[in-house]
Amino acid sequence: MNVNDSERIVSMLADLGYAPTNAPASADMILLNTCSVRGGAEEKVYRRLANLRIYKRDGKKQIIAVGGCVAQQEGEELLRKLPYLDLVIGTHNLHLLPDMVRGAERGERRSETTFIDNDQRLDLFPSIKGESRLSRFVTVMQGCDNFCSYCIVPFVRGREISRRSADILNEVRQLADEGVREVILLGQNVNSYGLKAESEPSFAELIRRVSEINGIDRIRFTTSHPKDMSDELIACFGTVPKLSGQIHLPAQSGSDAMLKVMGRGYTRKSYLDKVHKLRILRPDIVFTGDIIVGFPGESDDDFDQTISLMEEVRYIDLFSFVYSPRPGTRAAGLHDDLPRAVKMARLDRLMELQRRHTLEICQPYIGSSMSVLVEGEGKLPGQMSGKGDIGRIVNFAGENSLVGTFVDVKITKAYPNSFLGEL
Ligand code: SAH
Ligand code: SF4
Repeated sequence: MNVNDSERIVSMLADLGYAPTNAPASADMILLNTCSVRGGAEEKVYRRLANLRIYKRDGKKQIIAVGGCVAQQEGEELLRKLPYLDLVIGTHNLHLLPDMVRGAERGERRSETTFIDNDQRLDLFPSIKGESRLSRFVTVMQGCDNFCSYCIVPFVRGREISRRSADILNEVRQLADEGVREVILLGQNVNSYGLKAESEPSFAELIRRVSEINGIDRIRFTTSHPKDMSDELIACFGTVPKLSGQIHLPAQSGSDAMLKVMGRGYTRKSYLDKVHKLRILRPDIVFTGDIIVGFPGESDDDFDQTISLMEEVRYIDLFSFVYSPRPGTRAAGLHDDLPRAVKMARLDRLMELQRRHTLEICQPYIGSSMSVLVEGEGKLPGQMSGKGDIGRIVNFAGENSLVGTFVDVKITKAYPNSFLGEL
């Protein structure tokens, strides 16, 4: 989500004559696009901001701006706390960025964080120009209405709103015309698309319509909520060949007691049933997920349930986080007497198991052939890089002329985060 917003910001700033640089000290403007989903991410923003002040001390006319979720959360308070900060731009206000930057060039300081909770938000949302990657994000919905008890997203991204399907399909058609081969349908809770917009199709129907667009060969989506993984959507994995063979389906916990206090709206059994149905339709599907460890009240038994869920699902990759209390959320008020050391030990155990699973799942690909969309050069000289259907990076020796094509690569080695192969 933030990567996509950053692309949007870069595109808007390019229209004003700004270009990216790797030298922050001499930059005319520095904008931090921020995340506040966990306390650690937020603290990082404050540390980075404190460092930026050094550049300004030399009397430089550099614009310093904060965007994203920390900006939304803190608003004007940030301008008050940090005298060297020029702009604070909230998650619904990106369309104001050009005006704000022009003002800042004249020395004006400004904060804009008003939520726009109606259709106007869709029209004001700036588009991305000038990106030339073969795989592109397409926003289909924004915000989230789920209010999981630990999560700050609904507070900083606002109410859920689905984009008009006609606009989405037009955008995908245009991307296909520009040579894009893969689209990643994007939303905080992407599979609740259309549920609250009567005139719009279901998410499953949207996927079917996207798959009819010539030139688009692969479709992914993220992030999907297990409770909104409808039978109709699950069926798409059997009927829409363009749909990627990898799905991100965050469980958060394997314990029903924890899922209940988290307010997730599904049980361990209903989650596993969906995983099972998907596997029947696509026996080679791979799952990725998110897990929160050390939620208030998580007992040894609850944690063991999470471990056993991992054993049943066998994720190819897992993003695991120690629970971080977020201001204003329901869980922030829960009594939490679990020692930090216990939480860290659980995280270690979980990560150790995941490393084993990743290896066990990836090793059998060695010797097999994978269809790879070549996106660009790899890290080593002479190497090209792309992604296979299961979403993993594949590096292999090859020519630049392969960029933009699908090639068959034989996998020769499995690393923790990528494959090595040969053409
Ligand atoms: N909409 C997605 C998640 C978005 S946030 C979903 O519902 O799955 C990304 C991930 O951050 C979450 O899946 C969760 O695992 C983690 N996360 C969110 N809030 C957190 C918190 N307070 N502490 C620790 N991890 C958290
Ligand atoms: Fe947060 Fe839950 Fe919404 Fe995901 S579904 S963004 S975890 S509130």
